[in-house]
Amino acid sequence: MPMRSQYCGSLNAAHIDQEVTLSGWVDRRRDHGGVIFIDLRDREGIVQVVFDPDAKENFALADKVRGEYVLQVTGKVRARAAAAVNPNMASGEIEVYGTGLKILNEAETIPFPLDAFSNVGEETRLKYRFLDLRRLEMQKSLRFRSKVTSAIRNYLDRNNFLDIETPILTRATPEGARDYLVPSRTHENKFFALPQSPQLFKQLLMVAGFDRYYQIAKCFRDEDLRADRQPEFTQIDIETSFMTQDQIMSVTEGMIREVFKDLKGVEFDELQRMPFSEAIAKYGSDKPDMRIPLELVDVKDLVAEVDFKVFAGPANDPKSRVTALKVPGGNEKLTRKQIDDYTKFVSIYGAKGLAYIKVNDKNDLEEGLQSPIVKNLPVPVRAAILERVGAENGDLIFFGADKHKIVTEALGALRCKLGADLNLYTKEWAMLWVVDFPMFEELDDGSLTAIHHPFTAPSCSPEELAANPATALSQAYDLVLNGTELGGGSVRIHTKEMQQTVFNILGISEEEQREKFGFLLDALKYGAPPHGGLAFGLDRLIMLMIGASSIRDVIAFPKTQSAACVMTDAPGFVDDLQLRELHIRLRKKEKAEAAPAEGAEYGM
Ligand code: ASP
Repeated sequence: MPMRSQYCGSLNAAHIDQEVTLSGWVDRRRDHGGVIFIDLRDREGIVQVVFDPDAKENFALADKVRGEYVLQVTGKVRARAAAAVNPNMASGEIEVYGTGLKILNEAETIPFPLDAFSNVGEETRLKYRFLDLRRLEMQKSLRFRSKVTSAIRNYLDRNNFLDIETPILTRATPEGARDYLVPSRTHENKFFALPQSPQLFKQLLMVAGFDRYYQIAKCFRDEDLRADRQPEFTQIDIETSFMTQDQIMSVTEGMIREVFKDLKGVEFDELQRMPFSEAIAKYGSDKPDMRIPLELVDVKDLVAEVDFKVFAGPANDPKSRVTALKVPGGNEKLTRKQIDDYTKFVSIYGAKGLAYIKVNDKNDLEEGLQSPIVKNLPVPVRAAILERVGAENGDLIFFGADKHKIVTEALGALRCKLGADLNLYTKEWAMLWVVDFPMFEELDDGSLTAIHHPFTAPSCSPEELAANPATALSQAYDLVLNGTELGGGSVRIHTKEMQQTVFNILGISEEEQREKFGFLLDALKYGAPPHGGLAFGLDRLIMLMIGASSIRDVIAFPKTQSAACVMTDAPGFVDDLQLRELHIRLRKKEKAEAAPAEGAEYGM
């Protein structure tokens, strides 16, 4: 006899009068004047089971049952009395009249009630993740995730992509983060790195002639964890040969479109392709949230001559920016307190203040503008600013004046915050491509670093690149959804000469090039095809699709913000023998042996 004939959550009025066998967990048990109700739960949902005293043995057993016991129940589906119908439950029209009951396992009182999970800290939820995951909401999000990966595989399979695995124990792949290292036992003093991405392997697969590759790949990056990052995360990793940038973008966009259409019923219009320079200029971000109808407007030229140093200083510095952000109707919508809060908010990005003008009467430039700074601006400058931003009465204009990076980041973030705080969203979904990224970014010490990664092809020849690296554009592209980067990629360098030019610009010596990337340079000289690809962040995609507030809610066993697993207590200490085998001596041994302070490494 099978342990179940149906899932609890799949039962409905169509099953009335059927005999069923169910297996699941006790979600709730209630004793109602001699009748026992058990809400039995499995991954599909909950059904109400009723035991009455007529069935003596079962009733006695049912009386013993407690929350989270594992039961096998046999019974007959019957309609509920009209008054007892629960429209909030998929199985709310019916119940199962229990005729058999077996307790498969007992359960101690669990550390937190599943329906009051939000009252417990996330640390407790993660420590008992196997219980937290029993919640239907978590079951739903992981189920959705599985549907998404299956739709993705389906699309890519149909489009002739091959699913090929690449190594986890490998050499460093530069993606801009620190590596997770694994010491080698068999090669003394040497280490593997876990892949930050399969980047070089997928390129080598193109050199090998596989033409179209994909992998749902785990990637590892040891970053200082910002709010929504995980040290290990999943990418939908894609690479193609003999395709133009346009073709790569269109086949990968097709995949995202299909997933949204099939699983969310959402269809996108034709996607805008916005140059990076426009994204930074108008939205202060390389991943602009296009649901928000606010734009930054540069006013540097208008304030270059004023006496007011706060504006004139940056206006006369080529590395600085002076920009305005108009909030229509902001005059009424924003209180003094909010403006103060926003001033604090932009200081996170290094802004020293947040100047503003409230436009009470745009025709009265003497008395009609309310602002701590307006007296420092001559009337014609006031007029020119209002005209440039298209100000109307009732608008509030914020200003940023500082180094380019500070102003861009501060006002870009303020734009998003205003969008959220004032609920300015004009649509639910806004997706676009950002293209024409620069090849390099200048670091504080004047050196250059790759914006995407050093294998990205420029839009120019090696000679032109070497002559003007700081202004060269790349053939990189990012897909952005609601202000989040869903994925990014590029056409790759496929000649040795170009690859070496880029390494040279990055200050990587020839010796280091050979040592770290010799295999790539070799591959490029033995007939590498033109190729390119991209990778989407799967966790983030799922999070956006289901509207989860944290990436941890779409990962079965995530790490905490300090990159630990509180359930398995990883990372953990290892014993001396293991260390010796790995040729490792700890520098602070006493510390390793002492028990860690409780909760210290959780950082939650
Ligand atoms: N390897 C890149 C990344 O992980 C994506 C790509 O260029 O395909 O961001």
